[in-house]
Amino acid sequence: MESPAPASPYMLFDVALKAKTPLTPHLSRLTFHGEQVRRMATLSPDQRIKIFFPDPQGRPAALVHTPDWYARYKQTDAAVRPPMRTYTIRHLRAEAGEVDVDFVLHGDNGPASAWATHAEPGETLQIMAPNRAFAGDAGGYEWKPPAGLKQLLLIADETALPALAGILEELAALPAPPTTQAFVEVAAPEDQLPLPSWPGLTIEWMPRGLGAPGALMIGAAQRAVLPASLARTAPALAEVDVDQAILWDRAAPEDPGFYGWVAGEAAAVLAIRRLLITDRKAPRQALNLMGYWREGRVLD
Ligand SMILES: Cc1cc2nc3c(=O)[nH]c(=O)nc-3n(C[C@H](O)[C@H](O)[C@H](O)COP(=O)(O)OP(=O)(O)OC[C@H]3O[C@@H](n4cnc5c(N)ncnc54)[C@H](O)[C@@H]3O)c2cc1C
Repeated sequence: MESPAPASPYMLFDVALKAKTPLTPHLSRLTFHGEQVRRMATLSPDQRIKIFFPDPQGRPAALVHTPDWYARYKQTDAAVRPPMRTYTIRHLRAEAGEVDVDFVLHGDNGPASAWATHAEPGETLQIMAPNRAFAGDAGGYEWKPPAGLKQLLLIADETALPALAGILEELAALPAPPTTQAFVEVAAPEDQLPLPSWPGLTIEWMPRGLGAPGALMIGAAQRAVLPASLARTAPALAEVDVDQAILWDRAAPEDPGFYGWVAGEAAAVLAIRRLLITDRKAPRQALNLMGYWREGRVLD
């Protein structure tokens, strides 16, 4: 008798919108449910997932998960395929078959934001997310701080706020959380969320108002307090054209002294990369630098 095929790391989940809860003027929590969600897993507070929205004709996504699904998806004409965007699992309640995703509402200029703004309970989507039955590490996350971490720097805009909030919640539960500086750029002062606190944590909310997205994140990288012992020769950085490619530098920390997690508008993260590594001599291997979106572009 043939043995059953091994479980794949990722699975396609059919879900329906259960509830929409405004968190701030520009951030809404969408709770999805579905029988299959009982089989979903999340491995980290920055667990990324792919969400498939209704196709340009308004038909709900109906992809079939095959080993070559991604190549087939990419080969399909964009005029007929369901748009795919990347989001973060904010909470997974697998036993209840529920998953929360916090959406930035930036208008009707993108299929994800438009859908999240207008969708009504009962409307359906598909989500590609880790499969609970997979025995190995399905990946799809970058928050991997070294054990015994002493000093942490977090810089994010509102698209990375769901992950940042989860990271702070994870750290707050530790007996001795690291000294942490968190900088969060949001659209407006009313976009602040309640976040955990501990004596070594400082959180700076940076409402941008009419300013350019990411400018306040860059300012934060200029004034962030870095460990004193950083004098070193900065490595040459490979060029990244953030209008064509996704900026995604992964950390591979060599010691628990310092770790950084930076995510948000890609041109801003690119500037922060140069600032922290070239100008301020922060160790390249200690930093995750992730372009979550690019102003004026569609990069998925
Ligand atoms: C790993 C990862 C995790 C992410 N997690 C989340 C998450 O949990 N919640 C979340 O809201 N986003 C998250 N994002 C960002 C999200 O994928 C992008 O914002 C995406 O572009 C939204 O798709 P859209 O269809 O709304 O807009 P698109 O069709 O991609 O873009 C249309 C236009 O809108 C602009 N635009 C896109 N995003 C924004 C924005 N936030 N503010 C202003 N203008 C914008 C684009 O520049 C473009 O001009 C994540 C991205 C990554 C890579």
